[in-house]
Amino acid sequence: MKKISAKWCCVLAALVLAAPLLSARAVGDHSASQTVLGSGGYSAAPSSLTRPADRFPAPVLVRPSPPAPHPIATPAPPPPTPLPAIQPPAPPSGLCQDALSIQVVDPELTSAVQAGVDLLTPYFGCQKFRLDGAGLPVKFGPVTSLLNAKVLGYAHSTNSGYEIWINPDCWGVVGDWSGVVAHELGHYLGWQHGDDHPYMWLAPPPGSYAQPSDLAIVCY
Ligand SMILES: [Zn+2]
Repeated sequence: MKKISAKWCCVLAALVLAAPLLSARAVGDHSASQTVLGSGGYSAAPSSLTRPADRFPAPVLVRPSPPAPHPIATPAPPPPTPLPAIQPPAPPSGLCQDALSIQVVDPELTSAVQAGVDLLTPYFGCQKFRLDGAGLPVKFGPVTSLLNAKVLGYAHSTNSGYEIWINPDCWGVVGDWSGVVAHELGHYLGWQHGDDHPYMWLAPPPGSYAQPSDLAIVCY
């Protein structure tokens, strides 16, 4: 405490001493300017007077920093509205409640039969047939010998049951069997040629043509 007090004492004494000097400097500057105007003989005097003042630089005025601007409270944007949960449409492969069973006897026909079933799915809004190895047989059958023509397929109804035959003579010739399968499945459902059901008017697929006599579709 004593040392600090002593220092403060010295500073205070220096300030006391400097005050008259500062005022004298101001006076001296004033008089010096006047003197310069007069003769110029006292030009050195003001500099000697300013030395003590230089030892005590004028305290820097610390201006209080301006108050920080209040942040403008902007209302938070409303949270994004969650998207409504949209139920995905039923997959086309969904089985109908009354789906009918198909037994694909010849595995080679599986993809063609499934493609024919898929063609009818939009009409029913669901898969009308399922290939589960039971029910309606779909197989290669003796179509040519029965009809004396290379008709692509035949919906064969007998006392023992109902079968769909695909003509093996046309299997490697016709490019797309899906429409033929859909047509024969339509017969199985009781649809007739020329009614409003799909694929009961069937355009000849590649590799076949419509026989002019009875409009039967035969392969080349
Ligand atoms: Zn037919």
